[in-house]
Amino acid sequence: AKSDGRHIARFFDPGMQAAADRQSALETGLRDGLARQQFVLFCQPQFDVRGQLVGAEVLVRWRRENGVLVAPGDFIGLAESSGLILPLGQQVLEDSCNALARWRGDRSLGKLKLAVNVSVQQLRDPEFPEEVARILARTKAPAGQLLLELTESIFADDKQDLAERMHMLCGQGLRFSLDDFGTGYSSLAYLKQFPLTALKIDRSFVHDVHVDPNAGPIVKAIIALAQQLKLEIVAEGVEHEAQRSFLARSGCSALQGYLLGAPMPIAQFETLYSASG
Ligand code: C2E
Ligand code: CA
Ligand code: CA
Ligand code: CA
Repeated sequence: AKSDGRHIARFFDPGMQAAADRQSALETGLRDGLARQQFVLFCQPQFDVRGQLVGAEVLVRWRRENGVLVAPGDFIGLAESSGLILPLGQQVLEDSCNALARWRGDRSLGKLKLAVNVSVQQLRDPEFPEEVARILARTKAPAGQLLLELTESIFADDKQDLAERMHMLCGQGLRFSLDDFGTGYSSLAYLKQFPLTALKIDRSFVHDVHVDPNAGPIVKAIIALAQQLKLEIVAEGVEHEAQRSFLARSGCSALQGYLLGAPMPIAQFETLYSASG
């Protein structure tokens, strides 16, 4: 009958089928990529307001067979929804800890804080604190120099559970930073419920800070709030000198962005910033 035909036609919508095929091809690709160690770390430097190198953020890239580098925006979402973020996140954390261990003793690199992005799915995994402990033991990385960056999506989750898990990790010496502050579920009341040592102002605020008459006051208010809560404040996406000087004057602890240094392969980061190189 006609109505059945219509129903069937909709169910087998070729556009939807094509999208589903792409999705599952990408998921297979991710799985293979993990097995073949195709995920590589890039590092982006962070500086204090006097221009001293104080840290770096780890940003993962997927180097496919054909040599193409895929940005995380194109695969982290699927890694999260498919569960592959757990093995991927583990690999990123292990490689990051190996870097911290390797940098020990270098007058410049040995002092840096290394910020690693962690998805809420990883933190939600009850095994996560033990796994972090195993990685720290295996790599002998200085835990106090490791900063885990979480996004505001933790606010939408079971706060009690996540806060407890974060406290366990703080007991191992790690610290937490809240990424993309101001973009999502921001509720100031929630800030106090989590053991955080730093806030990152999202680059959408930084972008307009020197031109939009509202963005400047918002950023100043975020910084004042962070200072009240004794949180360090990192501004990301600093591209212009006018942004840098505004943020430096307003009391940011650290700055990150293309103006100061783009993300680069970790080996290049080491050569560029090592005291011996
Ligand atoms: P994010 O944590 O907000 O990372 C900052 C992003 O801004 C990076 O994009 C970086 O390359 C870019 N960026 C740096 N400086 C500037 C600038 O001056 N201007 C502009 N317009 N952009 C700048 P990227 O590397 O593509 O990463 C995108 C997102 O992917 C990250 O956003 C983070 O949420 C996620 N991500 C990256 N690595 C990992 C990871 O290992 N695990 C997880 N779970 N997520 C990751
Ligand atoms: Ca981040
Ligand atoms: Ca961010
Ligand atoms: Ca962001």
